[in-house]
Amino acid sequence: MTILVSGGAGFIGGNFVLDWLERHHETVVNLDKLTYAGNLDTLKGLKDDNRHVFVHGDIGDRELVSDLLSMHRPRAVINFAAESHVDRSIHGPGDFIQTNIVGTFSLLESVRSHWDGLPENEKQAFRFLHVSTDEVYGTLSKNDAPFNELNRHEPNSPYSASKAASDHLVRAWHHTYGLPVLTTNCSNNYGPYHFPEKLIPLVILNALSGKSLPIYGDGQQVRDWLYVRDHCSAIRRVLEAGTVGETYNVGGWNEKPNLDVVHTICAILDKLRPKADGSRYSDQITFVKDRPGHDRRYAIDARKLERELGWKPEETFETGIRKTVGWYLDNQDWVQNVTSGAYREWVGKQYEVE
Ligand code: NAD
Repeated sequence: MTILVSGGAGFIGGNFVLDWLERHHETVVNLDKLTYAGNLDTLKGLKDDNRHVFVHGDIGDRELVSDLLSMHRPRAVINFAAESHVDRSIHGPGDFIQTNIVGTFSLLESVRSHWDGLPENEKQAFRFLHVSTDEVYGTLSKNDAPFNELNRHEPNSPYSASKAASDHLVRAWHHTYGLPVLTTNCSNNYGPYHFPEKLIPLVILNALSGKSLPIYGDGQQVRDWLYVRDHCSAIRRVLEAGTVGETYNVGGWNEKPNLDVVHTICAILDKLRPKADGSRYSDQITFVKDRPGHDRRYAIDARKLERELGWKPEETFETGIRKTVGWYLDNQDWVQNVTSGAYREWVGKQYEVE
């Protein structure tokens, strides 16, 4: 048996591929374009594992995707591939429209035409799982109830708008063509192999190198945080037992203002790596101009997933963040590779990258 994962060299997709291969004997075909966010170093432990088949390519390439589907006949396609950074979407939304909307459309069409031709038993068993975000629901005020699956999509950034559009396409491909889809909308992930442009790895790495720790606005923007391996277990569970056509919210019941997250990381580093001059890492905090249209609060009601499929996160924020800081301290070579030209050079030797 085989599954096809798109975007499996990115942060969540990479963790998912590692997690999956620790638990299953199935082959994972991993289709990734290797944008700046795709990093084969994350998967280097799988170099001699023939259950992992890496393919450098775009979800929007109909011919390539169709060939992969007919060659490997996966029982499921899990779509992680996306442009995922809100700040980048503000400065250059074009790539977000191209991959998150046009790319998802193209992938759905390739999968639909393959699925249409399958024998009835394979058709019934097949699943297309689309990985999405809580940001599609827009923003909450302090006293609003957390987002549940019935909330309207009210996206506010080019990133969240492009993901909302992809969610709608996935839904329509089920209602119109009968494609057996599942969608997950998850809160903010953190954990190992997170590209250092995102808040948690950025703060850890800037703190260690003595740089400022930039906080947007007043730092009181609230996010719900989920340890990445808990997101992986939710996706596995939805794939295994989710009702076709349904959407499942995934969250950690860990609402934290950004400033608290940064102080927590600083306090862990003060213990694990005390500074020679006796100063505190939190002294490096610097408040910067807020991001335009910055959503104030996201919170996720994940009770449907718990009630219907029995899923619960294993990590609390306190345990997950300690693991994460520890991982970055122990894996400075990974960090060096993604932040320097060395990684691109290495990839160039393994695969052709423009
Ligand atoms: P990421 O940016 O770390 O990784 C995205 C991966 O997709 C990269 O490996 C990139 O090379 C690949 N990719 C980009 N365009 C592609 C294309 N056209 N064809 C093939 N591959 C392509 O993102 P992530 O944080 O791992 O997020 C994965 C998915 O989960 C995204 O769909 C994102 O919207 C969603 N999500 C992320 C979070 C989060 O906190 N990071 C939370 C909820 C949902």
